[in-house]
Amino acid sequence: MTSLDDLLVPPGSKVRLADRDPETTLHYADKREAKAATAQDAAEIDRLQDILYAEGRRALLVILQGTDTAGKDGTIRDVFNRTGPIGIRVMPFRAPSEEDLAHDFLWRVHRSVPSRGTIGIFNRSHYEDVLVVKVRELVPADEIERRYEQINAFEKMLVETGTTILKFMLHISKGEQKKRLQARLDDPRKHWKFRAGDLDDRARWDDFQAAYETMLSRCSTEWAPWRIVPADRKWVRSAAIASIVRRTLEDMEPRYPVPDWKPEDFKIV
Ligand code: AMP
Ligand code: MG
Repeated sequence: MTSLDDLLVPPGSKVRLADRDPETTLHYADKREAKAATAQDAAEIDRLQDILYAEGRRALLVILQGTDTAGKDGTIRDVFNRTGPIGIRVMPFRAPSEEDLAHDFLWRVHRSVPSRGTIGIFNRSHYEDVLVVKVRELVPADEIERRYEQINAFEKMLVETGTTILKFMLHISKGEQKKRLQARLDDPRKHWKFRAGDLDDRARWDDFQAAYETMLSRCSTEWAPWRIVPADRKWVRSAAIASIVRRTLEDMEPRYPVPDWKPEDFKIV
């Protein structure tokens, strides 16, 4: 049995994804129990987010990475479905635009980080710049090599200026991805999610796994550690992430601001 703490990648350690079981049910007895826990955590995340917003001083950034079909969209739906939309923003990162490419790789990312009082969710992120960009050799190798430290420094700056960062790698097996891609072909309601390019990425499965291992090893830091989440079972994945997000918000201990006036000083006529 694995506990949620075991999902952490200890800073400085070398990750082997083959050692991480994508199918584990963690400490959850069954799907019902996990779903009930997720719903409770989602409600609590909403309550804490309201206070974080009122406080208006700090932000939470949740980064979701994973191969196609790993469940990034489903996680957002399950974990944040109770959170009021005022204080939350989902940012998907797709292939960079011409304008993005005319800047450094962190430019579009920095503009998208959550403002004080809010939660930002990255569906993919700057990590694509050391994943797909590395596998497809879109920039020279020495440039990619420098990016790990550049990312660590960027995230450190965010943390030092009031943003808590949670990073989740959704870990699925190659067999599970096959099933989920097939479902996108079989189910007309899922056709919109299918792209032929996803099969090119699947053909490079081993290269992607290796790129993930490198970035997990080099970018799990004291200030922004990675967590590898077993994601072959959607209910385990969502329950684990909901629980960690909730615990993180609890640890941040947001407080309603104390006004510099007294209610009894005012009379509403
Ligand atoms: P999806 O998340 O399914 O909408 O797909 C987004 C696509 O954009 C994926 O194929 C990513 O690999 C790609 N993508 C995201 N960021 C980058 C990047 N920095 N450079 C190249 N491709 C990217
Ligand atoms: Mg896709």
